[in-house]
Amino acid sequence: MFTIEHIQAREILDSRGNPTVEVDIEAVDDLNGKTAFGRASVPSGASTGTNEALEMRDGGKRFLGKGVLKAVVNANTEIRNALIGMDVRDQRSIDNIMIELDGTENKSRLGANAILGVSLAVAHAAANSIGISLYRYLGGTNAFTLPCPTMNVINGGKHAGNELAIQEFMIQPGGAKTFSEAILMGSETYHTLGAILVKKYGNSAVNVGYEGGYAPPLKNTIDALDALMDAIEVAGYDKKITIGLDSAATEFYKEGKYKVDGKKFSGGELIDFYAELVDTYPILSIEDPFEEESFEDFANLTEKLKDTIIIGDDLFVTNVKRLEHGIKMNAGNALLLKVNQIGTLSESFDAAKLAQKNKFKVVVSHRSAETEDTTIADISVAIGAELIKTGAPARSERNAKYNQLLRIEEELGKAGRFVGF
Ligand code: PEP
Ligand code: MG
Repeated sequence: MFTIEHIQAREILDSRGNPTVEVDIEAVDDLNGKTAFGRASVPSGASTGTNEALEMRDGGKRFLGKGVLKAVVNANTEIRNALIGMDVRDQRSIDNIMIELDGTENKSRLGANAILGVSLAVAHAAANSIGISLYRYLGGTNAFTLPCPTMNVINGGKHAGNELAIQEFMIQPGGAKTFSEAILMGSETYHTLGAILVKKYGNSAVNVGYEGGYAPPLKNTIDALDALMDAIEVAGYDKKITIGLDSAATEFYKEGKYKVDGKKFSGGELIDFYAELVDTYPILSIEDPFEEESFEDFANLTEKLKDTIIIGDDLFVTNVKRLEHGIKMNAGNALLLKVNQIGTLSESFDAAKLAQKNKFKVVVSHRSAETEDTTIADISVAIGAELIKTGAPARSERNAKYNQLLRIEEELGKAGRFVGF
């Protein structure tokens, strides 16, 4: 047994420059004194769903209220006391103990950021105790598929200072044969897009948003999509790269209407708007096309666009109960998996398994504020996710995940299989 000997949480900075929680775990082999170590840090969203687990912030003046010292103290006292002496490989029991210790529906007593930091660091220490990669520890022999990256190359909505209502315009190099080829295609297209945007809109058009995608001064959805199509064609990847959208529609929903491109749409009108876009452009996936309680509109769109992946993010919040409801209603056909929406690794896996059992696809996702942590890359392979979204192929907190998948691809060698489309 590898016994947890020490848990050390601390405050570090994320990619937005705000504090977040990092956790170190040390464990020791009872038989021979061999040690194991794990470290993980916690991401943070901007367009967060109402039903997400609670990210505990200190308030007050320090870090303009965004400090996480309360969460750090919770990890270093109550959580530490409860977990010292446990077997680091008993992830499920460790997660359950933290859930019970917290005692709330949304982890608001101890903070989901405190709990998740520990939960992920435990997995790293457990993998280290065996001396194998995290994806292998979590996924066993089933872990051999590499997800298709869905790269957010134009940022809008809450992630950028422009007027685009839709938050994310992504490229999906599903025509690649390998993960590394997908990265190559994505990178070339990203830089080609940059040159196109500079020519059309000037140098400031390649300033970037939270996720490393360009944030050009565009107003209309089709202007962004046309720029993407130009870039895909000029880069030479016509028909090999599809497009993904994340509307993050809760953010532009007010008083029963969706405000897009200077117009106001009802849910039904927005369905027609999406249908026309899917008719015109090679759109493979649409995430959060409606606000976070619109299970019915999700179901209607899923029924209408039979070949499109309709992904629930704020709708499901990686929560088994909400996903169960969505599955019953045929609201969407894919789960967006964000570990900090639910707060433990075990519950994230439960959501992924429920999705897969019901033929829903799984898209593993970063948050708009990230760190150098790469855990989600390993998770995507461990659960056999079809897609991973972790921003543009630029900015190191985004590329850290893509780079980790390149390493995993190398380690898998011939056994690895890229999920194309
Ligand atoms: C998203 O909405 O899918 C996203 C990654 O953004 P955020 O982290 O700001 O919620
Ligand atoms: Mg989203």
